[in-house]
Amino acid sequence: MDFSLPEEIVMLRDMAKKFTDKEIRPLADKIDKEEKIPKELIKKLADTGLMSVIIPPEYGGGGFGELGYCAMQEEISQGCASTSTFLGAHLSLGSQSIVLFGSGETKKKYLPRLSTGELIAAYSLTEAGSGSDASAMKTKAIFDGEDWILNGTKIWVTNGSLADVIVVYALMEKDGEDLGSGAFVIETAGKGFNVDKIEGKMGIKGSETAAISFADFHIPKENILGEPGQGFKIALTILDVGRLGLGASTLGQAKEALRLSTKYSQQREQFGQPIAEFQAIQWMLADMTNDIYAMESILYRTAAAYDEGKHVTRDASCVKLFCSEALDRVVDRAVQIHGGMGYSSELKIERMYRDARINRIFEGTNEIQRLVIARETLRQGGF
Ligand SMILES: Cc1cc2nc3c(=O)[nH]c(=O)nc-3n(C[C@H](O)[C@H](O)[C@H](O)COP(=O)(O)OP(=O)(O)OC[C@H]3O[C@@H](n4cnc5c(N)ncnc54)[C@H](O)[C@@H]3O)c2cc1C
Repeated sequence: MDFSLPEEIVMLRDMAKKFTDKEIRPLADKIDKEEKIPKELIKKLADTGLMSVIIPPEYGGGGFGELGYCAMQEEISQGCASTSTFLGAHLSLGSQSIVLFGSGETKKKYLPRLSTGELIAAYSLTEAGSGSDASAMKTKAIFDGEDWILNGTKIWVTNGSLADVIVVYALMEKDGEDLGSGAFVIETAGKGFNVDKIEGKMGIKGSETAAISFADFHIPKENILGEPGQGFKIALTILDVGRLGLGASTLGQAKEALRLSTKYSQQREQFGQPIAEFQAIQWMLADMTNDIYAMESILYRTAAAYDEGKHVTRDASCVKLFCSEALDRVVDRAVQIHGGMGYSSELKIERMYRDARINRIFEGTNEIQRLVIARETLRQGGF
């Protein structure tokens, strides 16, 4: 059994690491404080091809698949969790929806420009009254004989204030008949689109989040993804893959926290010796290492299975659940190892502790992941 990454993915990962060290890491503090990713950094991400890694080569993308995407996210998130969240919404949620469910025309229309970064993508399922329970959504698209006319309000849209195209979910109605849910690609330049940036998040502050609303917004009929009635199926399929990217981002953040904690414990002295010589500190480092080892194993095993075309719904939920909780344990220990300095915004660890927490909430809360895992385990009668 070969557990090594293919050579081209190792090259992509090395490139992402160099880019992170040179371009992202030095800006991460500013990104957190100013609550935005500089436009120049987004342009550089696009110029190096990092905004296109999962888009197929025929549309100008890297075509690296999920393994490549995860390897890239593992590196980017070591420098800045906000930047990896930006890439996740653009690639794994927004662009991926078009790759998997767009018609030939829709792919030709959007994917080449999403690959070059000329367009930025987002994904919008959540509403104020419909979070874990997506079926409670109220946003509605009614067919007027020519276009779909969209009305409603969505919240918590990552990249919502930056995006040129958003994959939006809505209930569908045609000739007075309820068609179920649908997924549409909308262009934010259209008339009737409004956006309000959400300020004051606990962490991933540089990842812009917005509420968006639609007032008699026209969607050309060819901009539907899949078929009428398939909206929730599409949403869940995309979230399955998204959960792998989330796992990769948490893995990168955990590795960074361990690296910083190891270094600090070897430099900081108390009672006349480096704190790394106390067994209490060593045990924390050991537990952090063990969590990272398990995160890496579950993540890459599942990403490889996904690229082989296997059904990974339960596995992706396991990745999301385990990795997000393991990251919380890792950053919590990292703060502890840093003592008072771990609680100060002077050091990166404080930001990492705040940034980690969202992973148990978005892309389906961990309670919902437990429901998915248990349902499948009961169906299969075990593992
Ligand atoms: C920073 C950020 C970025 C986001 N980005 C996006 C995005 O780009 N696109 C998008 O569409 N959404 C996005 N979201 C929304 C996110 O996916 C939702 O917040 C999440 O799914 C939870 O929904 P909710 O907030 O309405 O919580 P609720 O569904 O109200 O849940 C509240 C609590 O009840 C629990 N709960 C609910 N139902 C059950 C149940 N059946 N069994 C047990 N417990 C249950 C939950 O687990 C949670 O603990 C983002 C959210 C945040 C905070």
